[in-house]
Amino acid sequence: MFNHLTDITRKARRILLLSAIGAISASWVGGTAFASAGPISATTNFDSGGGAEVAVGSFEGAGDARADARIRVELTDPMGYPHKGYLHFKLENGADQTVFIEVTNIDDSRMPADHRLFYTTDLEKLDWRKMEHEIGNGFLFTLPSDQVYISNYHAYPYRNIVRRVEELARHPNVATEVIGQSHEGRDMHAIRIAAPDLDRERALDYVILTRQHSGEVQGSWHMDGAIDFILDVIEDPARQFADDYVFHLIPAANPDGIFHGIHRLDAQGHNLNRQWHAESPVEIAAIKNYLRDNVREVHWGLDLHSSTNLPFNYPAVWYDERAVDEEALEIIEELVEAVNSFDTANATASDSRSRGFIYREFNAVMVTTEVSTYWPGQTAESLREEGRAFIHATTRTVATD
Ligand SMILES: [Zn+2]
Repeated sequence: MFNHLTDITRKARRILLLSAIGAISASWVGGTAFASAGPISATTNFDSGGGAEVAVGSFEGAGDARADARIRVELTDPMGYPHKGYLHFKLENGADQTVFIEVTNIDDSRMPADHRLFYTTDLEKLDWRKMEHEIGNGFLFTLPSDQVYISNYHAYPYRNIVRRVEELARHPNVATEVIGQSHEGRDMHAIRIAAPDLDRERALDYVILTRQHSGEVQGSWHMDGAIDFILDVIEDPARQFADDYVFHLIPAANPDGIFHGIHRLDAQGHNLNRQWHAESPVEIAAIKNYLRDNVREVHWGLDLHSSTNLPFNYPAVWYDERAVDEEALEIIEELVEAVNSFDTANATASDSRSRGFIYREFNAVMVTTEVSTYWPGQTAESLREEGRAFIHATTRTVATD
């Protein structure tokens, strides 16, 4: 028994839905009482929710009779991208109830059936935990709280990025600034990190950006790890970077896409990483303006992405052949080593991509890094570790005398 979505809710943001589980009858579970249980509801209508229509229905005894309710997840992509790759929804009012979760169209995605979803009860802390059971043809899950967020990987909402920027702004070696607004008016930020005694005339610029493809959340965790590595080196009395760097980080290149839980495009339907060559959408224009105003000599650039391709089935690093020399290729090899889930590099022409822009305007190397969203070993910590390794692979540190 499932409610049909109305056209209005579909239009609204493909979200949601909920339903009538209040009607659960206790008869099929041997008389267990549900008197205190309210109706469970499901929604993707929150910061970074998206990628599915979720229906809550009564569980009528098919499958495993221990379930209190049945959650049907239909993967969707509001922008029509064929490989449905992002999933983040919330179940409410179901504390201690056991639900049977089905992903009804898993074949429309590259999500392997043995993938396990992640959940958290606290989206502020982002303490994602992996579920016990594989998705398969459906599985049981006991809701630990009245608010449970469920995602296919480690979703990272816009407001968490903003909070991270605000925390960093209080740090003595960090400066932050708002570099513009997204199409829908969300702030875009740059984070600048440099050692306190830096000689700006000699310093090289290092550019890192992520979330152009908003659902590729792994980039935010990579960026967190990169920031940790940079601050660790700057603050370690025993070592320093061999060259002086000013790190410029753009943590949310596509704020509207992140907020709306869109996998690969912005809320206007642009693939932002194909918009760097001519007149760009406001988000990319803001980044280009910031870089032109603040960057002089680029040492290296990273554009942090992830891919729904399965492990070892896609390049870990994409680069622009025109930008690289022998030395750069060696660094690229080290970067490939740093990626857990893919193990090759590939060159493509890239005028419309960020790395083409960095080549044209600064005659420097920026690469696109990719990790598999479905690498089984992936944790928030493994992602932060990769982010640290990316900076380690692309810079040199020396012991201080
Ligand atoms: Zn991407």
